[in-house]
Amino acid sequence: MSEVKVHDIVIIGSGPGGMTAGIYGGRAELDTVILEKNFHGGQMVSTTEIENYPAIPETNGIQLANDMLAHAKKFGAKIDYKGVDSIEVLEDGTKKLMAGGEEILTKTVILSMGSTPRKLGLDKEDKFTGRGLGYCATCDGGFYRNKVVAVNGGGDTAVEDALYLSRIASKVYLIHRRDELRANKTLQTRLAESNVEVVWNSTIKEILGEEKLTGVITVDKTDQSERKIELDGLFVAIGGIPTSGLVDGLVDLNPQGYIITGEDCQTSVDGIYAVGDIRVKSLRQVITAAADGAIAVHAAEKYILEHQ
Ligand code: NAP
Repeated sequence: MSEVKVHDIVIIGSGPGGMTAGIYGGRAELDTVILEKNFHGGQMVSTTEIENYPAIPETNGIQLANDMLAHAKKFGAKIDYKGVDSIEVLEDGTKKLMAGGEEILTKTVILSMGSTPRKLGLDKEDKFTGRGLGYCATCDGGFYRNKVVAVNGGGDTAVEDALYLSRIASKVYLIHRRDELRANKTLQTRLAESNVEVVWNSTIKEILGEEKLTGVITVDKTDQSERKIELDGLFVAIGGIPTSGLVDGLVDLNPQGYIITGEDCQTSVDGIYAVGDIRVKSLRQVITAAADGAIAVHAAEKYILEHQ
């Protein structure tokens, strides 16, 4: 009977944190495998412009994702497109993963599953997803050429989406629940210079339409007044929910479901690390996810040496 191979590092998820871990793991000549159940790149691939990654003043998410993967492969990391169903820590500290019926053994695991878009939680939201309602403006914005659209949210994603759509659609609303934006100042300035109409202090109370979305009703929280806005499309960009279900009960999570780690990205379980948007941190960006990837591999390498 052939013995099952034990990898040095298995990385779950291929956002910028996971792929940077791939680069560092491969370069350290560790047997490094990235497991990805969708397209490589994570949420980065739904961003049109990336202009705050050092030395690359202009790129887009898909390009950067492809470049990072090529970089990781160049140093010997492998990518396998499959989802992980479970993780178990065996008595000797080896981690056993099940992925589509296959058993994968590894000395260390780097969790890089990122987050998924938060939903509004309104009636018709699921029914109209793909029928006028979406969560990725850069993916689906092209369908709204010369049409009327709205973006809901006030963070970097929402403002970037609204600016992106303003170059395609005939009219763009940005619906935000407060009177100030969370988005960074550069984006705020660009928004102020654009023709996007901001609907301040407002939340969406109802999604309108029979077969597809035709508009929304918003409520202004300052005076409870309601407004009907007719729309061809609505993009919801109200943040993310960490994709940590796989490790719920295995590693410590905060009340919002983000993985708690030390500065070395170590979780509450020895030899399991978390990087990028899935962990508790103050700034979730490509650069901070990439930094996590480097740090986690450094810690994993030390763990592997100490547990020879
Ligand atoms: P975010 O920063 O968490 O912002 C979410 C926005 O949605 C906030 O404005 C929030 O309002 C609003 N919101 C949350 N729940 C809501 C609800 N139930 N109903 C209505 N509004 C709701 O999320 P994000 O914009 O997706 O960004 C995520 C992370 O990625 C951030 O760290 C961000 O800096 C980063 N990012 C960076 C870039 C870049 O640097 N180019 C681009 C995209 C994202 P409040 O403001 O009132 O809380």
